[in-house]
This record gives sequence, structure tokens and C-alpha cells, in this order.
Amino acid sequence: MKRLWQRGMIALARSSAVKDFMQGRDGMRKLAQRFVAGPDVASAFATAERLLDEKGIRTSFYYLGEYVDRLELVQENVDQKLAIAARLADADLDVHISVDPTQIGLQTDAEQVGPRARSIGRAIALASGGKPGLHCLMLDMEDASVVDVTLALHDDLRRLELPAAVTLQAYLRRTEGDLIRLIAAGAKARLVKGAFVGAKHVAFATEPEIKANYRKLVALMLSEEARESGFYPIIATHDDRIQAEALALARENGWPQSTYEFEMLLGVRSDVAEALAQQGERVRLYVPFGRDWWPYAIRRIGENPANGVLLARSLLAR
Ligand code: FAD
Repeated sequence: MKRLWQRGMIALARSSAVKDFMQGRDGMRKLAQRFVAGPDVASAFATAERLLDEKGIRTSFYYLGEYVDRLELVQENVDQKLAIAARLADADLDVHISVDPTQIGLQTDAEQVGPRARSIGRAIALASGGKPGLHCLMLDMEDASVVDVTLALHDDLRRLELPAAVTLQAYLRRTEGDLIRLIAAGAKARLVKGAFVGAKHVAFATEPEIKANYRKLVALMLSEEARESGFYPIIATHDDRIQAEALALARENGWPQSTYEFEMLLGVRSDVAEALAQQGERVRLYVPFGRDWWPYAIRRIGENPANGVLLARSLLAR
């Protein structure tokens, strides 16, 4: 039942006719507000300030837009990320700026991806005003074919001493090796389960296998060796059991609070995020913004069949 519902929502996310129709409806816009900050940088900052002031929760900004395969869209994405960085200098926030390599040209002019990532990284470094570790460029991880290029981008930014972190996916078999290397380098990495499916020889296929690998990787991320190397772990899951296990590991292996963090998506299990923050844990929410909000919002709705009632009500509301 859950899979059927999710597949239906993914089909809706892909249809541009449905997208145009839904983005014009007030009821849908209201429903999306739970998962998306708003259309522009100003609304994203307003959400980040509210989260920090009211809940003590930090932010990762993500400019919405999928399948960026035209140069003018690439430029729009880069401009949005630079606009965030410019505004950060005057804000009292701790922010990650999420970047998909395809958003900055991997499908259009791949040779320019490195220079674009560097210019965003430099703008973020400038906004941090000499406080290392304050803001950073977080590389999101897309499908298995771009893992090498994404890791190389990350390494290049770090070599230039620009503030960078990278996302690793537990569904991939190779991730353990990638993680061991990043731990030894004292890097900053975000662990997710992975939103993609891969061939059997590169990827774990079932939920229990992916979960088991996630747990194994969390144990590496929060090991004593990782702490000693200066590695910074970001545990990005809504699974509260795994979060509890991670907390137990952190305590057991001497990780002080704020030397690791949890990350979740805006609007998903907010009670869990808030409870962690109240315990003094460092929590960050992934805050998407932009005009192209339908495909993202409907996928989040699709992750939980209980959202069906909300969806029906929002459709009826016009
Ligand atoms: P699941 O096992 O899916 O869920 C755990 C619990 O949370 C379950 O009880 C479930 O019902 C509940 N839950 C989950 N989603 C919802 C929802 N929408 N509404 C209500 N309840 C829900 N993937 C990538 O491939 N690349 C990336 O760069 C990437 N970046 C990410 C960044 C962040 C901050 C996060 C949180 C996820 C990211 N993902 C990324 C997605 C990730 O790979 C998973 O697909 C997603 O997080 C679901 O896995 P989970 O571990 O959260 O938990």
C-alpha cells in the first residue's frame, strides 16, 4: 500500500501539466508550506531565522529545481546560491548551502562545475568572516554515476581550504570505503540512506540491507578514531531509533554535543527534530525554497500515506 501510494506520487511529481495546475492552486500552496519555505531567498531566510530563534534549529538551504539541463537554469541556480551567501554576512545564522552538481552544470558544461563550486565556496568563506566551520557548501549526492565527480569536487574545495562537506549514501556498497577515507582526512560528511536505486553489484536493494549498512556507517562516523581525526558527522535520517543509537554511540565514544549533528527535512517529523534540539543536540533542517516547489512537495507527501487526507483536503480547497 505504502509503495503504491509513493509510486503514484512520484508519477505526479514528474508530470509538468500536473505541476502547472497544482502550483496555481492556493490549497496546494498552503500544503507545500509545510515542506518548502517560500518562493525566494527572503522567505528562506525568514524560515531560518524563525527556526533558530524559536527552536534553536539550524538550516541547510536548497534552491528547488530539478533536471537542470539548460545553461540559463544553471546560471539561475548559481545566482541563488551566491545571493544566499551575500545575505549571510549580515545574518546571525549557521547555514549550509546545499548544491547538487547537476544544478551547477554537470549536464550542460561539466568543465565549469569546478569553477562554479569554487566561486560559491569563496562567497561562503567570505560570509563566514573568518569563523571557520560557521557556514559551508554541502554537496548533495545524486545517482551512482556521479559519486566520483562529486567526491572530487569536495576534495578540490577542501584542498583550497574552502568550507565544504559532502553527502554519502548508505544504499551504495562503495560508501564504506569512501567514508573511511573522509574520516581519515578529518572531513565533514552527511550520511543519508539514498533516494536512488542502483544495480545489484553497486547497491543494496532492500530496506533492511540499507538500514543495516546505515547503522554500520554511523558506528564508523561516531567512532573514537573519527573523533580523534577531527571528522564532523552529520546523521541525516528521520529514523528516531537510529538517532537514539547514534546518541548512545556519541556518549560512549566521548563526542561532546555540537561536535556532530542531526539533519532532517523541513516539515517531516518536526516533533522528533524539536525533541532532539531540546535535549541540547545540534539539529539542522533542510529548507528548500523556490518557485518550482511542486515535484519536491509531492514527493514528501508521497513518503507517508497518512498525508493522503491532507492532499485531498488541499485539492478541494482550490
Ligand atoms: P525512512 O526509513 O524513510 O523513515 C524513517 C521514519 O520517518 C519512518 O517512520 C517514516 O514513516 C518517517 N518519514 C519519512 N519521511 C516522511 C514524510 N515525508 N512524512 C512523514 N513521515 C516520514 N538522498 C540522496 O540520495 N542524496 C542526498 O543528497 C540527500 N540529501 C538529504 C538530506 C537530508 C537532510 C535528508 C534528511 C535526506 C536526504 N536524502 C538524500 C534523502 C534520503 O536519502 C532518504 O531518502 C530519506 O531521508 C528517507 O530516509 P530516512 O532515513 O529519513 O527514513
